[in-house]
Amino acid sequence: MAEEGRYDVVVIGGGPGGYPAAIRCAQRGAKVALVEKERVGGTCLNWGCIPTKTLLASTELIARAREAEKFGVKISGIEPDWGAIQERKAKVTDTLVGGILQLLKANGIDLVEGAGSITPEKNVRVAGADGEAVLETDRIIIATGSDPAELPTFDFSQPSVMTSTDALALDHVPESLIIVGSGVIGSEFACIFSTLGTRIAMVELMDRMLPTEDSRVAKQMKSTFRKAGIEVKTETTVEEVLEYRPDGIKVKLSDGGELEAEKLLVSIGRRFNSAGLGLEEVGVKADERGRIEVNDAMETSVEGIYAVGDVVGGILLAHTATFEGLVAAENATGGKATMSYDVVPACIFTTPEIGSVGLNTDKAADQGLEVTVSRFSFGALGKAMAMGEDYGFVQLVIDAKTDKLLGAQIMGPHASDLIHEVAVAMQQGATAMDIATTIHAHPSLPEAIMEAAEAAHGKAIHVAPPRKK
Ligand code: FAD
Repeated sequence: MAEEGRYDVVVIGGGPGGYPAAIRCAQRGAKVALVEKERVGGTCLNWGCIPTKTLLASTELIARAREAEKFGVKISGIEPDWGAIQERKAKVTDTLVGGILQLLKANGIDLVEGAGSITPEKNVRVAGADGEAVLETDRIIIATGSDPAELPTFDFSQPSVMTSTDALALDHVPESLIIVGSGVIGSEFACIFSTLGTRIAMVELMDRMLPTEDSRVAKQMKSTFRKAGIEVKTETTVEEVLEYRPDGIKVKLSDGGELEAEKLLVSIGRRFNSAGLGLEEVGVKADERGRIEVNDAMETSVEGIYAVGDVVGGILLAHTATFEGLVAAENATGGKATMSYDVVPACIFTTPEIGSVGLNTDKAADQGLEVTVSRFSFGALGKAMAMGEDYGFVQLVIDAKTDKLLGAQIMGPHASDLIHEVAVAMQQGATAMDIATTIHAHPSLPEAIMEAAEAAHGKAIHVAPPRKK
């Protein structure tokens, strides 16, 4: 335990990497301070996962209500109320932030408001509204996250140019929107605003949208977007801004075309928050983009200083940040834990949803692995048909020799929930046969996973056998 007035651990940054790390340290008996310069919950709760999913809950309800007649239900007067949707979003995030504040208090953690940096003596200086303080400590966990990356092509002081944080705070629904970048964040915003009636064009540098996803998933999503009226221009960039107007923007594209819209959202990735932390002075190594280097114990190049979450790069997801935070917390309090990235589910909350884990078919091919790829379509599943959501598929990537599950991609209803069955199976080293021989309730969506696993062994009941010649 630390001496009087001294902390065992100071955590800098209260997002999903930092606050669970602080709580785990306290659970292990440490005296802990958590330093936060804006709002606990970080990007995830305030400007990321939760606000976007709250907006999506509203827009999905609108989309569903518009389809009501297909289900024999008449609903009239469906009208989005953006003000009320935003109020609900604020209420959800405020409630969650309040919950974290209570948890910090209940665990005896001192929340120190202000910007933290590391002193040459390896303590933490906090610059707050009331001046500066130095927190003496034995160990430090850096969890300062990331901010939206900006592009020099655009002047972000113009009202028409937005980051994801600006888009979440819009006071009205724009009539038209250009989205630069068709990754996860851009695609989720496209779904939100397109349902609200915004005309959307997406511009993507790579040869396909969702460039990190399985190519089959990305291709199918592009055609789904097209059907929803969302144009995705791949292998295209914005070359220059031709005009900023108070009510819009006009840009020139690399293919010679021009686009005009009321707003333009830049969603091309994240900027790592490691500047100004005093890293160089104490010898903590970071790469040229600001990603802090860590080992599998989440320890930096300096003993006793750990880093977790977006600021270490890699997989920029809230749950990865949390697991890294828990590993760092164990190690900062005398334990021994290592971080593994073998099974990390990743979800995209588009319509339809995408869930993926482990290897996809492109990565398996790149690695020259001998795999069996087995699919089952939601179009052949009773529950999906009953729900009116019979689009998309389950795809399993299986080691051809051992039958072990190496990965899965699911596109369709509740894909973000379903993917966890495969994640647990992979964590346990299960085979496709293990899934195929596990009784799944009927009618249910996970039956699609069971059928895909059965199909890998030529035993799927609801897949027609290849036609005999
Ligand atoms: P952050 O959440 O960024 O938290 C860092 C915290 O540190 C912030 O509160 C910041 O104020 C504070 N801080 C920074 N510097 C200092 C300093 N010097 N002193 C004190 N405090 C400091 N991930 C998912 O898993 N699922 C999703 O659905 C999802 N949706 C997203 C949607 C959007 C629009 C965005 C932008 C991101 C989304 N993400 C999602 C990613 C997810 O939000 C991040 O991966 C996650 O928040 C990273 O957690 P973190 O703790 O590393 O950093």
